Amino acid sequence: MINTTSTRLWDSNSNIGSPIHRLDEFAYFGNDLGSVYTKEKTTFTFWSPEALSVKVKLFATGSDNEQGAKVIDELPMNKTADNVWRLEYLGDHKNEYYTYIINFKDRTVETVDIYAKAVGVNGNRGMIVDLKSTNPEGWDKDKNIFLNSPTDAIVWEVHVKDFSHSPSSGITEKNRGKYLAFCEHSTLYGEGIVPTCVDYLKNLGVTHVQINPFYDFGSVNEAVNDDSFNWGYDPKNYNVPEGSYSSNPFDGNVRINECKQMIKALHDAGIGVIMDVVYNHTYQAQGSFFDLSVPGYYYRYNKDGSWSNGSGCSNDTASEHLMFRKFMIDSILYWAEEYHIDGFRFDLMGLHDAHTMRLIRKALDEKFGKDNVILYGEGWYMGTACAFGTEMANQGAIRSMKGVGAFNDNMRDAIKGSVFGACDKGFVQCGASAERIKSGILAETGSWAGEASQCVNYASCHDNYALYDKLILSERGGTGYCERFDYLVSMIKLSAAVVLTSRGIPFFLAGEEIARTKFGDENSYCSSANINQIDWENTAHYADLILYYQGLIRLRKKLAALRGSNKVCDSSSFRFIDSAMPCVSYAIDFYDEDIKGHIFVALNPCDYDVRINLADTGLSKDTKWIAVVNKHSAGTAPLMAISELALVESKSALMLLDEAAYKAIFKR
Ligand code: CA
Repeated sequence: MINTTSTRLWDSNSNIGSPIHRLDEFAYFGNDLGSVYTKEKTTFTFWSPEALSVKVKLFATGSDNEQGAKVIDELPMNKTADNVWRLEYLGDHKNEYYTYIINFKDRTVETVDIYAKAVGVNGNRGMIVDLKSTNPEGWDKDKNIFLNSPTDAIVWEVHVKDFSHSPSSGITEKNRGKYLAFCEHSTLYGEGIVPTCVDYLKNLGVTHVQINPFYDFGSVNEAVNDDSFNWGYDPKNYNVPEGSYSSNPFDGNVRINECKQMIKALHDAGIGVIMDVVYNHTYQAQGSFFDLSVPGYYYRYNKDGSWSNGSGCSNDTASEHLMFRKFMIDSILYWAEEYHIDGFRFDLMGLHDAHTMRLIRKALDEKFGKDNVILYGEGWYMGTACAFGTEMANQGAIRSMKGVGAFNDNMRDAIKGSVFGACDKGFVQCGASAERIKSGILAETGSWAGEASQCVNYASCHDNYALYDKLILSERGGTGYCERFDYLVSMIKLSAAVVLTSRGIPFFLAGEEIARTKFGDENSYCSSANINQIDWENTAHYADLILYYQGLIRLRKKLAALRGSNKVCDSSSFRFIDSAMPCVSYAIDFYDEDIKGHIFVALNPCDYDVRINLADTGLSKDTKWIAVVNKHSAGTAPLMAISELALVESKSALMLLDEAAYKAIFKR
């Protein structure tokens, strides 16, 4: 079962793909690592070149504390000529649990298979799984959500538990905080007016959800079904869904089935799934399954032998070592194929080497078509003990990683002030950083991004303060959480207008559009579920804000010119109008499926109204314009007709479309 991975790992024309760890010499390139089940036999394949002997230990249950717990057998593996340990375990052994017992020169260890596809409670044993039997009904007809361009995506970032933990979600109690909450329909807040959860998302119009880690992580005890909360950036078993989000974490099949149900329910609603993946570090350093399997191989170490810690989580994995690189590629392909994942968001991507990211792009393109699976990550510049001169996958390398994008921290901080200072203000509070806003509007194509599709523009994500909280802190010194302040709502609307009219991939934290608060909690990764959860009651208080986001989304979907598609307009058709700074305004000329038109956008951060002479757009002063976005509303409905002079109200956005194009596009 040797596949083509081998050529991909080695075919670099530079020395980047060549071995840099002494054990790389023994690297294995087959596609059968882990346990492969058939009715007739289960085959185990395991890479550990320095082991003296390896056994597979088989159990009836996933832990010793369950009914029927017993050891079934302990069977020796054989080392083969291709440097792996193998065992053919004859018979039908579906749902048996297993570990590897490894004998090294100086010790014996027991570990979970890093390639395990199913595990028992808390991920402490692998499980032999018949994947076909985990498929929900209709899974064979489930289809990926692929778009023409990544810039067509509009991403809403959510955490499985945040989504439905609150009773205000209207979700059945047993499903709250679980995968299955995504499968409920006609859920309502309160007495039955406002749709919540997936129905709400359909109305909102986002194309994708990005879901915080839902591979198996270590920080939440799955054995008790309680209110424990963690974001989950502490991977334990990469190729298995997290158990605490399932209705039964003890049976290795259930979490797989329910995770697939979640994905299918989102696909059925027309919404794609972007998976948040964290290959840059593991839950444990010493004693992790990687460290136990091949000691000293899968991680980076400083010269003094200590663990490299660029991630801040006590260990950095080594994507430049061939077998971790292969693990990343295999794992991504597995999720994309087995779980129909539509995109991946790489945590601390700047800790990986750029070559690995290019290989992941290539592997996905071969299976799914060019750039169909969306890839982006955190391209921060980070220190790590990787060989000097290695090209790291940070913003500086984005131009050399076609089809891979990165979050735009410039835009994030320009909009609302630095994430590193609670009181720091940005464009929406006081008009600061107008030049940086302009750079973000162009999706950093004048800076680090090669094309608009490589830039993820956002104001807020799970990290740092929620947008509403940041505005409260910088404007009110931190008083008034949960109160509705209309001047803050204006700033949120202006922020949304910046993000959703800019080129690139727009992204926002779930609930930003209902003024979500985390009560000033800057880093809520292990705070209570009550602080982290979305309170759907806000849908009643912020109906106008939801409508505003919804309207901007609808416009963006109709107007390719906003998104920065190369087909529709080039940069020469885009011009900033500097006559009314710090009001940022610009005009775009576009050709979209035979429709020739003009867009004018003005973003006014001032506390006073601004008038802009539309002749400054360079277009004929006879041009008639239709407003589609103003301080109060956004959408495809005409708000008013305008010519010559545009009035941009205080702290607001104005977007105009020339009348002829408006009529052609919206068929009026
Ligand atoms: Ca877990």
